[in-house]
Amino acid sequence: MAQLTPLPTPAFLDGRVKRMFIDGKHADALSGRTFKTINPSTGQVLAEVAEADERDVALAVAAARRAFVGPWSKFKPFDRQQVMLRIADIVEANYDELAMLDTLDMGGPIARTTLGRRRAVALLRYYAGLATSTHGETIENSAAGEVFSYTLKEPVGVVGAINPWNGPIGLAIWKLCPVLASGCTLVLKPAEQAPLSPLRLAELCAEAGLPPGVFNVVTGLGAAGAALADHPGVDKIAFTGSTEVGQKIIRASAANIKRVSLELGGKSPNIVFADADLDAAVPGAAMAVFGNSGQICSAGTRLFVERKVYDEFVHKVADFARALRVGNPLDTETQLGPLVSQQQLDRVTGYLAAGKQEGAKALAGGMRLERDGLGAGYFVAPTVFANVNDGMKIAREEIFGPVISALPFDDIDDMLRRANDTDYGLASGVWTRDVGKVHRVAKGLRAGSVWVNCYQVMDPAVPFGGYKMSGYGRESGAEHMAEYQQTKAVWVKTD
Ligand code: NAD
Repeated sequence: MAQLTPLPTPAFLDGRVKRMFIDGKHADALSGRTFKTINPSTGQVLAEVAEADERDVALAVAAARRAFVGPWSKFKPFDRQQVMLRIADIVEANYDELAMLDTLDMGGPIARTTLGRRRAVALLRYYAGLATSTHGETIENSAAGEVFSYTLKEPVGVVGAINPWNGPIGLAIWKLCPVLASGCTLVLKPAEQAPLSPLRLAELCAEAGLPPGVFNVVTGLGAAGAALADHPGVDKIAFTGSTEVGQKIIRASAANIKRVSLELGGKSPNIVFADADLDAAVPGAAMAVFGNSGQICSAGTRLFVERKVYDEFVHKVADFARALRVGNPLDTETQLGPLVSQQQLDRVTGYLAAGKQEGAKALAGGMRLERDGLGAGYFVAPTVFANVNDGMKIAREEIFGPVISALPFDDIDDMLRRANDTDYGLASGVWTRDVGKVHRVAKGLRAGSVWVNCYQVMDPAVPFGGYKMSGYGRESGAEHMAEYQQTKAVWVKTD
């Protein structure tokens, strides 16, 4: 593996403090404070970024409220659609820069971050369609006399969105889309580990003609997220992140009964039957975890394999893992980049140690990678643990790193019980050629997504979200729009 090469600098990274975007303008933190965002491939500072406190959050919420009741409320569905389509065009044209910012800021391989272009513009164009096609109903009623009834769909109001680091631009656009389509306004608090591409997105939206105050970005640490979740002027919080912070957000929402939607963690089962197309299932099972270096909430980290093919299968997954190219994310051949931070590296290597200590066997990986200059960054070898049992930490807790825990099973009902024996319920996968097993398992799993003979397929129209402690609410599709709308019933006496 070659040495890490000096990084090219997008124009956005001009060495100046990256300021927030509030009411259509760049803004320093009122306190003047900044924090550093680090390039996880090198451990070097990438940029200084304004650090919001509750006063900056309050300014952003006030700007979002002014826009909500003011100019943005005059935008007809068609006008919102038009501006969203312009944003889609501008995002598409500038996606190389957005992808590069994510590669530098969170370490996603450039081959992976550039692939996000298709989903980003698909989201914007799909929700632009929803802007003009979502409406209330006329409802026939049986009330006494003649009374006509219908419903209006109205925007919820000012939305606070709080995101994690693992897909900065994609997650920002996913949050923005239903806001714009429904006529809400947004204050986004991106992750402190990777705030750059969301800031650039706000500039691009302004270029596309989005009125000031409709989309505000406040950068900062957890305290800025907490201030947003607490703010009485926020009508809804859309949160993606850890279950622990999700619980805090629910508590904060109580004061003004905010709406809340939560996309939280996972420990998803991926189930391989002996009758599956194993040649397809091997890369499928591996990349269900190793994509984005395991930093994906829906990763299929508990790999259940039918016992009669267990040994053969897990060894093949381990061979696949060893062949993955881990390294400089700017190299177009790289498949896995670093973890996002020193903290995440410590967390993942802690789980690697715990797995070994509890008796699991690393068939591949199991350690940090420091060869060829990688030691300056936060790289971990893709790891396949065998000899795992259901009680081990690595089988129960979300690791958020490139770590598979492979578990054998014999009986389908017992496997379903074990697969569901988790606090989480975000996603799942099943690999088999038997259509009866497909339906039985798809029905039996308590998870928001079931992928059959594939994994992590996403589409703007297909809902995504969790059961149990993986959260509530759905993102994508018509259900997602409904989270951003009030339904008002209107009764008109006509006799
Ligand atoms: P995190 O919960 O620590 O942080 C997420 C965001 O919340 C950050 O912007 C952070 O600044 C903010 N935050 C921290 N404390 C807060 C508080 N008290 N109030 C309000 N906001 C606060 O999560 P993380 O460690 O950055 O991300 C990893 C987690 O996110 C994993 O558990 C992962 O499964 C989950 N995740 C879920 C999905 C999904 O769609 N379900 C997607 C990506 C990540």
